Order: sequence, then C-alpha cells, then structure tokens
Amino acid sequence: MATPTENLLDWLRDAHAMEQQAEKMLKAQAERIEHYPALKTRIEQHIEETYGQQKLLDECIARLGSSPSTIKDMSAKLMAFGQAVGGSMMSDEVVKGAMSGYVFENVEIAAYTVLIAAAKSAGDSKTQAVCEQILAQEIAMADWLRDHLPELTEAFLARSAAPDVEAKR
Ligand code: MG
Ligand code: FE
Repeated sequence: MATPTENLLDWLRDAHAMEQQAEKMLKAQAERIEHYPALKTRIEQHIEETYGQQKLLDECIARLGSSPSTIKDMSAKLMAFGQAVGGSMMSDEVVKGAMSGYVFENVEIAAYTVLIAAAKSAGDSKTQAVCEQILAQEIAMADWLRDHLPELTEAFLARSAAPDVEAKR
C-alpha cells in the first residue's frame, strides 16, 4: 500500500523522466528541421517551456523530500534517442515527427491531469498549481500541432512533388 503523497511523488518522478524524454525528442526534431520554419520555431519555444517544467517538477519533488529518479530519467532519454534515430530514416520525417509530437503532448496532458487529481487528494495545493500551469502549456502545444498539421502536410507534399527539392526535413 501507499499513501496519496507517496503515489504523487512517484508520478512526479515519472513526469520528470517524461520531460527529459521531451527535451531530447524536441531538440532532435528542431535540429534536423530545415525547410519548415514555423514548426521549428514552435518546437524551440516548447523546448524553453520544457526546461521550465523540469525545474518546477524538481522543486515539487524536493519539497516532498525526494529527488528525481536517475534510472527513470536515463531510460526516458534513451527512448528519445531511439525515436530520433528511427525518425531520421523516414522520407516523410517531418510529418511523422509532427504526428509523434502531437501524440506525445497528449501523453503529457494525461500525465498532468492525473497529477492534478493526485495533488488534490494529497492536499498539496502547490504541486496542484504547478501541474495546472504545465498542463496549459502542453494543451497549447498539442493544439498548435493539430492546427498546423494540414498546412505542414501541404508544404511537405509540394516539396515532395517538386524535382530536386528536399522534403523530408
Ligand atoms: Mg512537457
Ligand atoms: Fe510538452
């Protein structure tokens, strides 16, 4: 058995690992994009937000008397590396990347929704407020990606159909 606070702490450490994965994934994407400047700029903005999220989670974890899990953080980074290598081998890399990004943001939305409920149950209003703040950033990123998927697809298709033009990134 575990108290609400123990579960909350465990999930905060999971979220910390998730944000390590997010950082690596977003950086790998932003570094490779060449021909889709709006997507690159939005990803770079979300990398900055991700650093802030990591810091906020660190503070919540420290307040509960613990520290992030090295093993969880490491395996999350490894996962992001695998995704980056896999993605770079696809001829429609930029479209697949945006799709994966949208999926990942929705995983984050689910994680922070759970954390908000857990913080409420544990009576930790500071952590609740932090997770609500982060959740808003994840929703904004997910919305942006979904809203821009059609025009990204159109830009990709136009480049893909043109002779001697690189489309994949
Ligand atoms: Mg995040
Ligand atoms: Fe995110």
